[in-house]
Amino acid sequence: RFITLEGGEGAGKSTQATYVRDWLLAQGREVVLTREPGGSPMAEAIRAIVLGDWAEGVTPQTEVLLMFAARAAHWHATIEPALAAGKDVVCDRFVDSSHAYQGAGKGIAAEGMAALETLAIGRHRPDLTLLLDLPPDEGLKRTQARGEQNRFEFETLEFMQRVREGFLERARAEPGRFRIIDASRDAAAISAEIAGLLAGLPDQ
Ligand code: C5P
Repeated sequence: RFITLEGGEGAGKSTQATYVRDWLLAQGREVVLTREPGGSPMAEAIRAIVLGDWAEGVTPQTEVLLMFAARAAHWHATIEPALAAGKDVVCDRFVDSSHAYQGAGKGIAAEGMAALETLAIGRHRPDLTLLLDLPPDEGLKRTQARGEQNRFEFETLEFMQRVREGFLERARAEPGRFRIIDASRDAAAISAEIAGLLAGLPDQ
């Protein structure tokens, strides 16, 4: 099974991705925990470019192409082989982040996004996507509390609001794949809800 976690900054994706991995391991499954941007050697190198200093002022077009280049490499090197070997894959961010950040957030048109998505991952999609939904001002407070700087000045509340709406729109369009989780609660409450969702998954 292929499970992804999505959401804005400070929503707790990484914490919950680890929780999902541990929950599946406890069921005796083999699990690969991975992340985007990154998740394979080449994709991690692209992550360093996309999130590095020189990304300041990069156009949305360059950014989205790099994101999908990383995703294609990640899919080929990490995700597809793991799924083919019968393992579960848990991924911290995936294609919905591109739709939310580069699409809704930075205005890349939907047709372009769809073409890149098909090029990078064909018709494959996650079996389950957990959207950790949080008002952007809450998320910002959390990331500031853990000492993270806003990477770039464009990551304003207004931008993050568009990103949040982008995620919610994706979730509304594909209710079978998505579960929207109220991420304003504490980590334990969120994990408990996720455990219930995982327990309800079909066996394979
Ligand atoms: O989830 P994580 O904090 O590791 O993401 C790293 C950064 O990459 C975040 O600041 C996020 O805003 C950015 N990002 C992006 N577009 C994506 C995925 C992530 O701008 N498609």
